[in-house]
Amino acid sequence: MEKFKKLINDKAFFKYLLYTIYIIITVGLLFSLLSQSYIRNFFATIENKTFDVRQSLLAPYKKVNKDIVIISVDEESYEYLFGKYGEWPISRGIYADLITYLEKQNPSAIAFDLMFVKSLKSSLNEDNKLANNIAKYDNVFTSINFDNQSFDLRKPIDLPNNLKAKVDNKSKVNFKNEYLEFTNCRAIINQILNSTSNIGHINIIRENDGIARDLPPFVVYKNDYYPHLALKVALKYLEKKEGYKQSEYKINKNGELILGNRKMPLTPNGTAILNWYGPSGMNNSDSFEYVPMWKVEKTMYENKKLIPQNYFKNKIIYIGTSATSLFDLKSVPTDRIFPGVEIHTTFVNNILDNNFIKRLPIHYDILISLLLSLFVGLIVIRSESTVISSLIAILTSIIYVLCATAVMYLFNIWIGIVLQIVSIVLVFIAVYLAKYILKSRDLEYTYALATTDGLTELYNHRYFQEQMLLNIETSKRYNKQFSLIMIDIDFFKKFNDTYGHQSGDAVLRQVAQILKKNVRSSDIVCRYGGEEMSIILTNTNYDEALITAQKICNAVSENPLKLVNGNDVKVTISLGVSTYPQNGETTADMIKFADDCLYKAKENGRNQVGNLAPDKEN
Ligand code: GH3
Ligand code: MG
Ligand code: MG
Repeated sequence: MEKFKKLINDKAFFKYLLYTIYIIITVGLLFSLLSQSYIRNFFATIENKTFDVRQSLLAPYKKVNKDIVIISVDEESYEYLFGKYGEWPISRGIYADLITYLEKQNPSAIAFDLMFVKSLKSSLNEDNKLANNIAKYDNVFTSINFDNQSFDLRKPIDLPNNLKAKVDNKSKVNFKNEYLEFTNCRAIINQILNSTSNIGHINIIRENDGIARDLPPFVVYKNDYYPHLALKVALKYLEKKEGYKQSEYKINKNGELILGNRKMPLTPNGTAILNWYGPSGMNNSDSFEYVPMWKVEKTMYENKKLIPQNYFKNKIIYIGTSATSLFDLKSVPTDRIFPGVEIHTTFVNNILDNNFIKRLPIHYDILISLLLSLFVGLIVIRSESTVISSLIAILTSIIYVLCATAVMYLFNIWIGIVLQIVSIVLVFIAVYLAKYILKSRDLEYTYALATTDGLTELYNHRYFQEQMLLNIETSKRYNKQFSLIMIDIDFFKKFNDTYGHQSGDAVLRQVAQILKKNVRSSDIVCRYGGEEMSIILTNTNYDEALITAQKICNAVSENPLKLVNGNDVKVTISLGVSTYPQNGETTADMIKFADDCLYKAKENGRNQVGNLAPDKEN
């Protein structure tokens, strides 16, 4: 054990081993915590927030596709339409006329993010007119919505076969989970359902914190896949503009939905993380173009020319609501009030610009965490200054966050931040603690080295001198006595000559142990030099010191000592005692007096305590 301790203190290798163990324990602790699902969720929730912040920071540098335009029932339009027609929802016939009006300008696609809720005044005639108009053009799209209402409330309808999507899924993602599966379909009017295959779902996913970050490109209903409206609309645009057409959806083994030369990376939940623009284009000219519905209506019916000629040519037109009173507003990473319709245009835009966000799997986060914390750990180990090492740790964190944000901007890749920063902080603390502990151990060891004699492990001469001074000081102040015993081994020169220096050393060590055993722990046993030893007896008067000296003398002479060859041998010692203050008030005087006594003992035949004051002076 003693040897092992020395090894740890001596070898830099063991220091690094200890640091490594600290780092491994810390990081291991962190990752074992991550196996608890609620801790994982906690981390994921904060990570999501960092995504929101990064998206908000980057949004001003992303430009929306100007081929996408929203015709919106905003607050003004809602009031205007309600005033003019005396009801909301308005008659389906108006939407039928809207299709006729827009198609004249040859748009890429027209998409209704509306459920065509029945108006009170609308007649069957107008329902048919809308259904016919939707069916008449291959670029008019409308929406369907799924939910999880229980069966006793609704009977889930069957959907026509031409709405189902063929999905060839080669990835590990199997799309059977809480986000994608629905038990109920909210019916739209049968005339529409039966007249077109251009119907897509418009379900939006909101996470626990109420924020919509990703969308499901497909939902599963009665074991069939149904594609998102935006997916269908974008494909129509690509078909018209780039001649790209697909009949089947392919997902590769990396979990990416292939759309020609574009790829939509999917999460393990089967959703696509959107790259967000914003804030909403409702009041912001930098984002999606909004045309209020009242302008369209007046241009359409009153020939008012509020919208430039051919404004909608080649465009993707999304028709939806943005009036707060119509409650189709959501929270998204870049904006708290974001119209549902703009979530869909964002989806379309991501497909056109091929810029969906890909979330790197957790093992990348773990790897990066390990590398970063190793780096910071090494800096803390090597650096002499706490200020510099903590500055570097903070700088590393900041640079990492900036890099992660740049990677999101440049490559649309979402690398985690939270786990990495937590690792850096934990490892910084752990290594700092380890370093601190090692340092204080080092100090202890150096101090011991400086005050101990290597052969006997008694205190050395320097320490003896220090302690003499200290004892003189304190005894003077508190008016106390203390004593000194000087010891010299008898005929030690001869002993060395007879048994050799090795055995001499062994005997020195054993005598030292006997001395230690026969005094109080508060007494200080030193190697004065050569085969001479000294003992400082604190708070001890002359008589008591004499008794102790005699006890030691007897103990040494009675105890057989071992030679290096294993044989037993006996040695004797001579001793001299002096007491502060009567035998001397300085170290030198006290040593001199004790030495004189010692000389007396030698003179009188050795193996005894010499006494210059046999008639006692206490
Ligand atoms: P005396 O009874 O008069 O003290 O006789 P002595 O031979 O012991 O005489 P002295 O104290 O003058 O001799 C000291 C000897 O102790 C000299 C040296 O050989 C021996 N010695 C001193 N330091 C060491 C040591 O560290 N190891 C060994 N083996 N011998 C030592
Ligand atoms: Mg001597
Ligand atoms: Mg001697």
